[in-house]
Amino acid sequence: MAHWLFKEEHEILRKSIRSFVQKEITPHVEEWEEKGEFPADLFRRLGQLGFFGLKYAEQYGGSGEDYVADAVFVEEMARCGSGGVQAGIGAHAHLATPPIYKFGNEEQKQRFLVPAIRGEKIGALGITEPNAGSDVASLVTTAVSDGDHYVVNGSKMFITNGVRADFVVLAVKTNPRAGHKGLSFLVAEKGTPGFTVGKKLDKLGWRPSDTGELIFENCRVPKENLLGEENRGFYYIMQNFQWERLILALGAVSAAELALEEALRYARQRVQFGKPIGKFQVIRHKLADMATAIETGRCLTYHALSKFVRGEDAVTEVSMAKIVACEAHNRVADEALQIHGGYGYMMEFPVQRYWRDARIGTIGGGTTEVMKEIIAKRIIKD
Ligand SMILES: Cc1cc2nc3c(=O)[nH]c(=O)nc-3n(C[C@H](O)[C@H](O)[C@H](O)COP(=O)(O)OP(=O)(O)OC[C@H]3O[C@@H](n4cnc5c(N)ncnc54)[C@H](O)[C@@H]3O)c2cc1C
Repeated sequence: MAHWLFKEEHEILRKSIRSFVQKEITPHVEEWEEKGEFPADLFRRLGQLGFFGLKYAEQYGGSGEDYVADAVFVEEMARCGSGGVQAGIGAHAHLATPPIYKFGNEEQKQRFLVPAIRGEKIGALGITEPNAGSDVASLVTTAVSDGDHYVVNGSKMFITNGVRADFVVLAVKTNPRAGHKGLSFLVAEKGTPGFTVGKKLDKLGWRPSDTGELIFENCRVPKENLLGEENRGFYYIMQNFQWERLILALGAVSAAELALEEALRYARQRVQFGKPIGKFQVIRHKLADMATAIETGRCLTYHALSKFVRGEDAVTEVSMAKIVACEAHNRVADEALQIHGGYGYMMEFPVQRYWRDARIGTIGGGTTEVMKEIIAKRIIKD
């Protein structure tokens, strides 16, 4: 039975996204994984179908501010079987565009958000640097005021869509002496002199997503590209993290479910000692543990989502959901591979990819350790 958060219209939307994913994404996953990229046209298709506008107002081409609908989009996209495709689409839809919608002015929304909702411009979010990951406030990319421009110098690391993005929502230091109070958000556009892509990074999982290193050398970004107020960037980043972490938790639950389905299928068909391995109690209990871990992750994630959509402070619950769902995803994918035995280690079985793709969940968007720090600070109140 569907959870109470989801109304009839959400279930109709779920059906239509699931059908799109089954027809237009899943059949190509193996090829895209092999190539290490998926076609940019997928952004345009998803834009045409309205899936990038679910949480945005109609005046920008959206269909209403419905975060539950967006959660459905995340859950169903995660069922495509490729974390990399999900990551590229997700970085655009859930990381890069929300700060423009929330903190951008009307002109910026027309210039960046509207074409992004249509899938005509691809976005990325650039926060992490070679020496600043969990400690966001320590980033050192500077933006120095010079007339009606900022001169940006520095580099960004691990940026999803970094190579092919048309614009990057960039975290910069506008006041390097003010610590976290000196951060701002600028939109840097592809083609701006001084903005180059260092290289496309090679990685364990999420293979079809492009993960780039970005370099800024005396790059002049017009001041009209500043999002919101100067030096308020840290608060904007922390707000933006809540949806990013929720979508990582939602995606983890869905992808773990896919790994469980694969393990169940294999346990029914693989025969050893004269019977399907799914008849052995050890395997049955593994499957039961996997299903229980998924349900635990789902319940906590939906609880955090319900607080988030009601506009309540959900930081503690979102952090908990990210830990539980992403750790569960890792365990479930690992057990699914174990249940496949030697075949699980072979590239022709999708379970190896589920295992590789799962690993990033407890790292990206704030590590499990950092989530625990956030929870501890909030409950200990020190
Ligand atoms: C595939 C991929 C895609 C990504 N996409 C993006 C993107 O689109 N945009 C973007 O801005 N970033 C992106 N990232 C970066 C990601 O968010 C960071 O990797 C993550 O925040 C961790 O930072 P770090 O890698 O620098 O690790 P570090 O911060 O150096 O952490 C190393 C270890 O130390 C631990 N640690 C750090 N601080 C503490 C502490 N206070 N207490 C206890 N333990 C601690 C961590 O938990 C971790 O285990 C991506 C990363 C990857 C791998």
